[in-house]
Amino acid sequence: MQPRQIYILTLMSAFLLISVMSFLFYLGNKLLIESALIEAAEEIKIEGTTAHLWFEEIMSGDSTESIDGVWKDIDDADWYAKAMLDGGENAEGTYFPLQDPQLRASIVAVRKALAEFKKIAVNRYNNFSDAVPGSEIDSQFDAVFLDFIKQAENVERMIKIRIHREYNQYRYLSIFLIFVSTILSFVLSSFLFKREKNRTKLFESLREAKQAIEEKNFKLDYMAHYDALTGLPNRVLFLDRLEQTIVHAMRKQFSVALLFIDLDHFKAVNDQYGHQQGDQLLKQVSQRLRNCIREEDSAVRISGDEFIIILGDMADINSAIKVSNSIAAEVMKKLQEPYDLDGSIIHISASTGVALYPDDGSNAEILIKHADAAMYHAKSLGKNNIQFFSSELNRQAQRQLEIEHNLRTAIEEDQFILHYHPQWQLNSGKISGLEVLVRWQHPEQGMIFPDEFIPVAESCGLIQQLDLLIVSKAFHQLKSWNMTGFDFGCMAINISPICFCRADFFNNIQNLISDIGVDAGSIELEITESVLVNNVKQSQQLLLDLHRLGLRIAIDDFGTGYSSMSYLKDFVIDTLKIDRSFVSEYNQSKTSSVVLKNMINLGIDLGLDVVAEGIETIEQETYLKDLNCSIGQGFLLTKPLPAQELENFLTAKLADNIINIASKQV
Ligand code: C2E
Ligand code: MG
Ligand code: MG
Repeated sequence: MQPRQIYILTLMSAFLLISVMSFLFYLGNKLLIESALIEAAEEIKIEGTTAHLWFEEIMSGDSTESIDGVWKDIDDADWYAKAMLDGGENAEGTYFPLQDPQLRASIVAVRKALAEFKKIAVNRYNNFSDAVPGSEIDSQFDAVFLDFIKQAENVERMIKIRIHREYNQYRYLSIFLIFVSTILSFVLSSFLFKREKNRTKLFESLREAKQAIEEKNFKLDYMAHYDALTGLPNRVLFLDRLEQTIVHAMRKQFSVALLFIDLDHFKAVNDQYGHQQGDQLLKQVSQRLRNCIREEDSAVRISGDEFIIILGDMADINSAIKVSNSIAAEVMKKLQEPYDLDGSIIHISASTGVALYPDDGSNAEILIKHADAAMYHAKSLGKNNIQFFSSELNRQAQRQLEIEHNLRTAIEEDQFILHYHPQWQLNSGKISGLEVLVRWQHPEQGMIFPDEFIPVAESCGLIQQLDLLIVSKAFHQLKSWNMTGFDFGCMAINISPICFCRADFFNNIQNLISDIGVDAGSIELEITESVLVNNVKQSQQLLLDLHRLGLRIAIDDFGTGYSSMSYLKDFVIDTLKIDRSFVSEYNQSKTSSVVLKNMINLGIDLGLDVVAEGIETIEQETYLKDLNCSIGQGFLLTKPLPAQELENFLTAKLADNIINIASKQV
């Protein structure tokens, strides 16, 4: 029921109740008034009878009574009769006129009888001597009196009956109306009670719903702004905070520092120990970051293993450099402390990039970009270090954008040429193979080296196309050399991890081998160790399949990635290519020479060919030979050369008896 209907119902009930009460009051009042009429009717009779009594006394000679008293009684009786007709008031009470025509007629008759009675009484009194008892006038007098009494009694009876009837009506009506009102108020109150109960229930459920919505909103708000795993603010909240911090700094001429922290080899930890442990590690890292900063600074998790610290309110750029340097160093130190992941003790490091407001960027977007670039620079410098953003880095970022912009056209127009870098057997000097190295012949900018464009191709999704283009070009060159009688041994081709991990990689290689018609046994694919560590199961199978095709597999840049040596035994590989940094540094520290020696021994123990990259001096070559490293590659022999130049170079060297060619001679 609508509130308006309830309102009307309540109003009607109240109106009904007031009407009932008023009606009962009216009836009661009427009864009260009319009950006075009974008295009046009785008075008529009493006064008349008294008058008759005194009159008879006087007529029988009793001289104590006065005839005037008789007349007065008769007049009093008539007064009451008149009061019943027209209303009147005396010491006994107030009398209202009767409305009932029948009763009025009876009263009129009573008055008539009373007048008749008075008339005959006067007559009799005047003829006192003749009106002795038993005389005719006496008999008439009695008859008139009796008629009067009869009439008076009739009126009295009628009034009594009428009042009795009205009283009964009043009683029954009252009972009925009280009953009806009681039922009505019961129905109404139970209805209102029920409604109130429902309303209370409704209010209660509304309150609960509101509370649930508020809780949900709070949760949603929390989820929208905080990272569920670590409880740190997420990217959304971070952007908001950073913008606020910058606006504040702008107003107060303060400096702000942004520390972009990326954990080193987190993926490897995840793969080796499982995601649960990885999550635990992230939680502990978050806690350590929190402990390194002030209350007013923010540490946020912006993605997987990437965190940012905002340091605000620093007086000038110099104090920003000082503070961010010391906090970054503290962060690196704390993050390097061992982590206990359910009993497994893990060590991890981080690479940190720092960008400062206002020098390195005037808004949030640029600052983040530059801190990110600085962090990548830290990674490229061998990880586990802090780098501040520099204009050089900025230039590199611009350059990357430019490369990305031109790369698609370069692939479509095949602006790439291949250079070949020979590898030789260290003990015999024989050429044992070539590494294929791509170069971009840019129509305006000249030659661009792969270190510049390969990472860009990887990040913008063009690497698959590019690598397959290179593989196809390399296969054609291999076939061409085979057909012209050159055999420079195995041809090693670099494969990007992204390309290697694609599901169609195997089929693509297989198709190119059969379409171009090359011998799979003369091809070696160079992959990095990160590929194996990150996709253990998939890589194991793929390596087996590639092996079955006859291809050889080399692990490139060995020692620079996540070198958990134990993984080597789980994969079928043929060659270990030791990164050139180990070759160039072996004589600079004892540690480097020990590492180099151990890596070579590990390869030998596993029965692999060990290639030392970056041999530039005779000393390096001799040292590696002494360590029993089997193959060398480096500028000592030559820089990587285009196919024709390589042919000429090798032919000339052979002619000068400087080198040997492994199998077929030129
Ligand atoms: P990488 O596979 O480790 O190749 C060896 C790099 O070391 C080559 O650089 C080579 O020129 C250089 N190098 C060899 N010996 C010496 C030396 O004695 N001294 C010095 N300073 N450098 C030496 P490059 O050609 O610039 O290639 C750089 C990297 O680019 C390669 O490292 C490889 O990771 C990638 N890359 C090259 N070509 C390809 C390709 O066709 N596909 C893919 N995916 N990556 C490629
Ligand atoms: Mg390589
Ligand atoms: Mg290498």
